[in-house]
Amino acid sequence: MQDLIQRLAEWQEELAAIRHDLHRHPEMGFEERRTAALVAGKLREWGIEVAEGLAGTGVVGTLKGRRPGQRAIALRADMDALPIQEETGLPYASASPGVMHACGHDGHTTMLLGAARHLAENPDFAGTVHFIFQPAEEGLGGGRRMVEEGLFRRFPVEAVFGLHNEPGLALGRFGIRPGPMLANVDTWSVTFRGTGGHGAVPHRATDPTQPMASFITALQGVIGRNIPARETAVLSVGHVAAGDARAPNVIPSEVRVSGTGRSFSPGVREIMGRRLRELAELLAAAHGCTAEVAYRHDYPALVNTAEGVALAAAAAGALASADAVDTDFPPITAGEDFAYMLQERPGAFMLVGNGVAEDGTFHHVHTPRYDFNDALIPIGAAYWVSLVQHALGTAETAGQGA
Ligand SMILES: [Zn+2]
Ligand SMILES: [Zn+2]
Repeated sequence: MQDLIQRLAEWQEELAAIRHDLHRHPEMGFEERRTAALVAGKLREWGIEVAEGLAGTGVVGTLKGRRPGQRAIALRADMDALPIQEETGLPYASASPGVMHACGHDGHTTMLLGAARHLAENPDFAGTVHFIFQPAEEGLGGGRRMVEEGLFRRFPVEAVFGLHNEPGLALGRFGIRPGPMLANVDTWSVTFRGTGGHGAVPHRATDPTQPMASFITALQGVIGRNIPARETAVLSVGHVAAGDARAPNVIPSEVRVSGTGRSFSPGVREIMGRRLRELAELLAAAHGCTAEVAYRHDYPALVNTAEGVALAAAAAGALASADAVDTDFPPITAGEDFAYMLQERPGAFMLVGNGVAEDGTFHHVHTPRYDFNDALIPIGAAYWVSLVQHALGTAETAGQGA
């Protein structure tokens, strides 16, 4: 199967050119019009049936195998960029100020395009493959919107698969795990209100900075005292706002603190939301103030099925030595909206190493000097092809459902 990577590497120049073009012209979530048009154009050029306009800018390509079969799977890539000012200095760096492909979705789109082209030329499988190019993965829930707009009614599949690059993991190594692999993502905010007053006479005021200070330190007690020790949970403060820097002698009447929560199970998520609210309200009351609490559930945890992981690991293992596939990869406290697709259909989300520099350093996703590794293009594309062969076709484990 090494030769599969080599065959895809024959298109390296062309595929890397697509990747650089996407990188130079990044588009924010639900604004991926140029990207979607490029994707749809390439798919049509290679003889693949194309549906456009799903969840606004989403594209789905559909390819039937040469051999008859009713089964179908979906492979998903994401297309959107981030509001980050690029600092790579690369010749193909972003031409759009403040917008950057800092999560490698340019590479994800390119790898799936490469796989689609190879499969269109070699449709040696039984059944149907749908290539999902989704918009707005970064916080806006493009995947959820595709599901809500009937993605899997229109394109029925028995399983769905995702792939993401992972900086810091050696180039071409794979990481996956059954069960929860990426986290529930929550956003919370608390507004403490008191009377405020003159800083010289605090006994005439109720001071909302007091409950806020207690709240911020008490918050970590939720992790240490309320969440079972075997579970993973994170509560972080990301923003604090109060008063006016020009008036340090005034006790503010309102202070606001907000942050994020991460967990892997619905039970832990419930405990965090409930305890955060209790602490805010009771600490406010203890200081004669009030607290207004908002605790919002954003992306749900991404949960792989055991069968999906087995299939994905077999597909990756066929490309490299089996020890290049870690099927006990540690869960990650970031989120992914591919979770919504996995709520609808079984399947698995695979990570593939974006590599490490010779000195052992790397730039993580969502940072201004990150770049997707072009050497990964044929590896990721070959993984997709191998997955189709394993799920629908010609490899030894053919017929194994996901
Ligand atoms: Zn990202
Ligand atoms: Zn991403």
